[in-house]
Amino acid sequence: MHSNNTFTAIPSRQYYNDERHNVLIKEAISLGCEQAYPIYTHQISIARWVQLKCKYGCNEYNKKLTCPPHSPSYDEMKEILKEYTHALLLHGHMSWQMRYMITKIEEKAFSMGFYKAFGLGAGPCQLCEHCDTVSTCIRTEDARPSMEACGIDVFQTVRNLNLKIETLTSKADEVNIYGLILLE
Ligand code: SF4
Repeated sequence: MHSNNTFTAIPSRQYYNDERHNVLIKEAISLGCEQAYPIYTHQISIARWVQLKCKYGCNEYNKKLTCPPHSPSYDEMKEILKEYTHALLLHGHMSWQMRYMITKIEEKAFSMGFYKAFGLGAGPCQLCEHCDTVSTCIRTEDARPSMEACGIDVFQTVRNLNLKIETLTSKADEVNIYGLILLE
């Protein structure tokens, strides 16, 4: 995504301080994350229009069990977000790497006592060569829906936090990918 603009990332400690979050941040960075930011779930933007972009414009619509119409709907995710107060936003540059990182961080968070930890990735699941959407997922331990597949407005969420994200205008643009771990 475009890298010419100047962005100022809000330091993660501005939100709240829990030593366990620092452990998760260090773990995320060791896995290849550029940075991870503790946030409040009320800073996450969700909108009905987001899944329109999946339904009209994405080749993977209805082809992956982690994508609409199989993923949580806008209404479901809106209610799910109310069941959490905190989350960890992960910043990276490759969607396949983000999918790997969110499952690892979710697992680590669970082992640290965040028993409701749940990860949301970026982009359609690519774990299997063929996804049988009339059946059930065969890798549920690794497969997670993306934020956008559940109606989360990733651009607005990232901008709410003053972090960098832009639409791509050329292959040379920097790609900024975000994943989310809901924590409680
Ligand atoms: S892990 Fe495989 S079966 Fe499950 S959603 Fe991803 S591609 Fe489909």
